[in-house]
Amino acid sequence: MKASVGGYARATDLQHAIKLLDSADGMARVLAGGQSLVAAMNMRLTAGDLLVDISRLSELRGVTDEGDTIRIGALTRHVEVGDNALIKEHAPLLADAVKFIAHATIRNRGTIGGALAHADPAAEFPACVLALGATLQIMGPDGGRTIAVEDFFLGLFETDLEPEEVLMAITIPKAEAGERQVLQEVTRRSGDYALAGLCLVKRQAGHRLTMLSVGEQPELATGAMAMLDAGNIDGAVAALRAEIDPSSDTNASASYRRHIAGVLLRRAVDQMTGDVR
Ligand SMILES: Cc1cc2nc3c(=O)[nH]c(=O)nc-3n(C[C@H](O)[C@H](O)[C@H](O)COP(=O)(O)OP(=O)(O)OC[C@H]3O[C@@H](n4cnc5c(N)ncnc54)[C@H](O)[C@@H]3O)c2cc1C
Repeated sequence: MKASVGGYARATDLQHAIKLLDSADGMARVLAGGQSLVAAMNMRLTAGDLLVDISRLSELRGVTDEGDTIRIGALTRHVEVGDNALIKEHAPLLADAVKFIAHATIRNRGTIGGALAHADPAAEFPACVLALGATLQIMGPDGGRTIAVEDFFLGLFETDLEPEEVLMAITIPKAEAGERQVLQEVTRRSGDYALAGLCLVKRQAGHRLTMLSVGEQPELATGAMAMLDAGNIDGAVAALRAEIDPSSDTNASASYRRHIAGVLLRRAVDQMTGDVR
């Protein structure tokens, strides 16, 4: 099946992109790497009157050091996230995540902004940026705004972005001295979406724990985080299994995913403490 698209326009700068999106009464679609959008359009899972191609907007590219934070442009491709020296040093969780994402061709074209805007609960980057406590910078017809990642993901493939808005950048707090960041997941084959995955960050202020593929959106597992802060690993495993809401599908049952969640948490804690089995 082929996609049903009304038209295509290549934005020349960010304001041009916003103008194009604003002129289409909610029926325009931002095109970044196209790795999820084009597949969804081919399957007629989404349609648009106008594709607004932002892929050449230089202001949405690049990773910069901003003091206590790093700023990652929305058009930064997965492969660049994995290779970037600032990200490797200050947000290693994101760099580590790249090797779990799909295959080289998709990592060469897919963008971090596209992955966050797409909000697939099985994707790595949404769970990672939530675990890291990121802030998202968004531009729309009424100007720019900033939103905490905790308020960005609203449901299955649903975010706080309005149809005429563009995600510009992601700001991540730099890892503090001694901070640990770990990603663990289980897949059937290398490059598949995870049957279940887990991001764990340990800071002086406490743990931050998120999961992928176990619910409709990435969420902080606050019950398990409190148990980890108290040093109670068994309690954390029990709390995590109780607070996630996985579903059954052709790849795995809900009860298997719930079981795996606890296993992944123990592995992540072992990895952090150096007791890797
Ligand atoms: C076969 C296959 C396997 C995959 N496996 C994995 C995997 O294992 N793990 C994983 O995490 N991902 C996986 N992906 C998804 C991949 O990472 C996508 O590249 C990514 O999710 C979307 O990025 P993109 O730049 O291609 O976005 P696009 O496809 O261009 O856009 C995706 C959505 O986001 C919107 N959008 C994009 N950029 C912006 C922006 N800056 N502002 C506002 N809206 C925007 C678009 O309008 C669209 O709705 C897979 C994809 C495929 C096709």
